[in-house]
Amino acid sequence: MSAADLSQLEFDQQHLWHPYTNVAKPGPTFVVKESEGVHITLDDGTRLIDAMSSWWCMMHGHKNPAITKAIHDQLDTLPHVMFGGLTHDPAIDLGRKLLEITPDSLTRIFYCDSGSVSVEVAMKMAVQYQHAMGHAGRSEFATIRSGYHGDTWKAMSVCDPDTGMHHLFQGALSVQHFVSRPPIRIHEDWIDDPAQNGLGELRSVLEANADKIAAFILEPVVQGTGGMYFYHPEYLNQARALCDELGILLIFDEIATGFGRTGELFATGFCTVEPDIICLGKGLTGGHISFACTMTNDRVAEGIGGGNPGIFMHGPTYMANPLACAAAKASLDLLTGQDWRGTVAAIGEQMAAELALARDLPNVADVRVLGAIGVIEMKHRVSADEAHARAHDMGVFLRPFGTNIYTMPPFITSPDQLSEITAGMLRLAREL
Ligand code: PMP
Repeated sequence: MSAADLSQLEFDQQHLWHPYTNVAKPGPTFVVKESEGVHITLDDGTRLIDAMSSWWCMMHGHKNPAITKAIHDQLDTLPHVMFGGLTHDPAIDLGRKLLEITPDSLTRIFYCDSGSVSVEVAMKMAVQYQHAMGHAGRSEFATIRSGYHGDTWKAMSVCDPDTGMHHLFQGALSVQHFVSRPPIRIHEDWIDDPAQNGLGELRSVLEANADKIAAFILEPVVQGTGGMYFYHPEYLNQARALCDELGILLIFDEIATGFGRTGELFATGFCTVEPDIICLGKGLTGGHISFACTMTNDRVAEGIGGGNPGIFMHGPTYMANPLACAAAKASLDLLTGQDWRGTVAAIGEQMAAELALARDLPNVADVRVLGAIGVIEMKHRVSADEAHARAHDMGVFLRPFGTNIYTMPPFITSPDQLSEITAGMLRLAREL
């Protein structure tokens, strides 16, 4: 049969690759025709509540009128122009907004295309900074186990080497320095003993390799893809002091935690310290168009600028794409123009009450909620395909990974819709 004779779904299954799938066995795939608010509508008219916020980014819901209007208006004026030697209002206006809402010390913004690229940019900044400071040997990285930072090569090298999705590539990746994930959870009491709070191990790894390490990179407070694990922010405060002592930069990957998801605008808000470099993505445009950025402080930016060659060696074709900048500005205005803290807290309280019922189920290992992140951790791995197919029949789009059945609902989810999501999660926890 020629490609022209295939149905839409047949064509998709024979020619299009999907994320983390086997081309020979792509698993259940549904054709989406449109989306609005919390719903995605399939070609047979079925409406599903998007409990994933489309991989955690669609926080204001799908097809948000303010964001689509910003993109339409921008499209009519300046869809794209290269950023070398040129600038434009959307980039500048978004920059002003970002400076207003991010930690005070982060003053220099590098716009790029996706989360993984923003991690690459952050890691390059760290290496170039160390080089400029006369530490050319400092080109390696330290990180914590169970982390996830993206699918490009350098980002992969700091994903968990054993449990991460990239273990197959281990032989081809540069070796980095791994320490245990912080053992004390966010709602547990902090223990001021380095042997018990993870900082003893961190100190010994950083001290032993200080002349080789450019930066310590980690997801602050919430490890997402690596297990939906929520750890104590005091670890970050003390890691900051340790990095300063040893001349190591601190990078926070806030791609998943940014923009209110954890109950703080950024997970850095749980800390008393600020990182040298931060990566933002996902929710930056409210999920409407691919975009990300890396922000750093004056020390790093000026350090790189004063070195040789002085220029920062990165510059994507679509850097600061005006459509993406306009979407991001509209999304951030929407977020900060509402009581996002109250909204996220209400979602969290309802999820905590409803998901608590899962605690008594025999196959459930843990139930946890932070901000608008709700997790049922099972004792065994859950088939994403099986869960996806069953959740579809319940009118919910859920896509668990590993042992975690989780939701990151759009902030506009109503209490009734949220109950449908939690009911779907409970049923999966009972049946799978
Ligand atoms: N860092 C973190 C913490 C992430 O959760 C992700 C995506 N899940 C990335 C980086 C990579 O972002 P992207 O998929 O946009 O490349």
